[in-house]
Amino acid sequence: MNRILIAEDEERIASFVAKGLRAEGFTPTVVADGQSALDHALAGEADLVVLDIGLPVMDGFAVLERLSAECPALPVIVLTARDSLTTTVAALEGGAADYMAKPFRFDELLARVRLRLRDQSEPAVLELTVGDVTLDLRRHRASLGDKVVELSAREMTLAEVLVRHRGQVLSREQLLSQVWGYDFDPGSNVVDVYVGYLRKKLGSDFVTTVRGAGYRVD
Ligand code: CA
Repeated sequence: MNRILIAEDEERIASFVAKGLRAEGFTPTVVADGQSALDHALAGEADLVVLDIGLPVMDGFAVLERLSAECPALPVIVLTARDSLTTTVAALEGGAADYMAKPFRFDELLARVRLRLRDQSEPAVLELTVGDVTLDLRRHRASLGDKVVELSAREMTLAEVLVRHRGQVLSREQLLSQVWGYDFDPGSNVVDVYVGYLRKKLGSDFVTTVRGAGYRVD
């Protein structure tokens, strides 16, 4: 689950994305036109496609149409110019694809790639329960007993990662890379701050601090 097809005719963007993904352990392949993108994807050689809309030979919309008909489970992240974002979003409405406006930061793309590949490998779980806390992953909210608690997207992801690894200690670095999706300044206390938010909302014993090692949910 790490083969990423990058369909992008701007060489600068394609090589920047490919380089970044390779550094994160993915296997990227770059193609510069829509027909090649389609051929590659239909041959089953990609686990995820990063697809530019403005491509020669066949544009991204046409590629997407064929892909959603022939490989509906293949995740696609569409890249589009910011000034045509509205058109793109309208065109994608109801489809499975995610989109990003150019210019984008690599870490934003990486977070989406990871999320999409994870959705792909774990499609069935919609609710996670631990003790009297339930996370509703579809509606993005939590409940504590019979009380509904609103969590921000980041708080929800942090809670989800901790609960999916219940019983295991996760270090700050592991939580940073899984929740924030990129390398934060290791001196940052963002994880501790967000654990504090979760305790305030879900009860002080929701997360255990393991001194010198990290955090754990039991
Ligand atoms: Ca282009």
